[in-house]
Formats: sequence, structure tokens, C-alpha cells
Amino acid sequence: MLLQQLREEVLDANLELVRRGLVLYTFGNASGISRADRLVAIKPSGVPYEKLTPADMVITDLDGKIIEGTLKPSSDLATHLELYKAFPKIGGVTHTHSEFATAWGQARRPIPCFGTTHADYFHGPVPVTDEMASHEIVGDYEKNTGIVIVNTFRDIHYESIPAVLVANHGPFTWGPDVATAAHNAVILEHIARVAYRTVTLNQEATDISRDLHDKHFLRKHGADAYYGQAKK
Ligand SMILES: [Zn+2]
Repeated sequence: MLLQQLREEVLDANLELVRRGLVLYTFGNASGISRADRLVAIKPSGVPYEKLTPADMVITDLDGKIIEGTLKPSSDLATHLELYKAFPKIGGVTHTHSEFATAWGQARRPIPCFGTTHADYFHGPVPVTDEMASHEIVGDYEKNTGIVIVNTFRDIHYESIPAVLVANHGPFTWGPDVATAAHNAVILEHIARVAYRTVTLNQEATDISRDLHDKHFLRKHGADAYYGQAKK
């Protein structure tokens, strides 16, 4: 069987989304990529999570051609592939309809950075895509969803803000590997919930200061990061 370890990581990331309450029934998916093999492992479509095994993960190439697997891949595969092609340093992608992140996406409001938890993970507001046009929806919908996401990141660095809210739909997140992509989905839902509470308590709430934002993001990410234990 191809890519045993990646299959296990992808299955575990999918189960993590369920454990953290981000996924109802079979809504949601996570995938991982082996850049060396140029192959993607993704959850199959519509199979109950409690029945999934690593062998059920579907292996495709970057054109979506099934290389190994008997099940149909997640219907959002084409969106994941657009992200892998456009964002060369990502190793994993997730998609959920988690409650609070989806609410911001349905309101078509970016999630402002109100506090340090947000700043630890996302170096700016979490953006919302443009609404998709009719021809993008009736055409190759899942691929076009990926293109709309990539266009949203024309002036935003995908490693600084590893998440997006697709307008009237829900969030996608990514990371250097699929476990980190799932972790980012969990954090995104948390900051979406807290931001909702923040604007409920104070409609005039304003963004965190630039200094505090930079302090929190840059101590965890980038060349001068010092948060946590030294990397060996
Ligand atoms: Zn969806």
C-alpha cells in the first residue's frame, strides 16, 4: 500500500476534527500531500468516521486521478488540489462547517484579530473570499472554490494566515502537515467563537494593537521565534 504513514496521519487529522466537535456526520475532510511523490491522501466521500481505516484513504495525483483506492475521494478534493498547487509549502488541508467559523463566513465578515490567541496563529484578520459568481458555481464548482481562495491570498501570505472563510460556506485551513492543518482548524473555531462573544459584549471592540499582534505572532513564527522549547 502506498504512503502508509501519510494515510495514518490523514485519518488521524480527520478524526481530530470529529473529536473537537468541528464536524457533524460526514461533513468535513482533511488531506495530506507527499511533495516527494506528488501524491495526495484524502478521506473518502461519505463514509462514517467510525468505520474509516488508513486503507480507506484515497491516493490521487495533483490532477485528481486516483492512483490507489477503491472508494470515491471527498467531493472537495479539487479544492484541496488547487491549494496544494498554489501554496507550495503546505502539507495538509482541512475543510469543515464548524459552527462559529461558518457563521462569520455566512455573515461574510473577516474575523478581526481581537486578542493574543488569534495573534499567536494568524498574522492578521482571517479573510473571507469573494462570493462565487454563477458561472463559477455551475461550472467546476470545487476547483473554482480553490481558485477563489487562492485569489483571496493575492496580497496575503498563506503561511502567515493559514485559514480562510469561503463566503456563505465555511472554513478551509492548512499547514506544513495535515496534523497542523487540523490543529489550525480547531484554533480557528476557537478564535471565531471568542470573536463572536467579543462583538456581542462590545460592538465597538477594536483590533489588538499592531505591537501586541506582532509580538505574539513573531515569537512563535519566523526567524526569531523563541516560544516553546528550542528545536533540535
Ligand atoms: Zn463544505
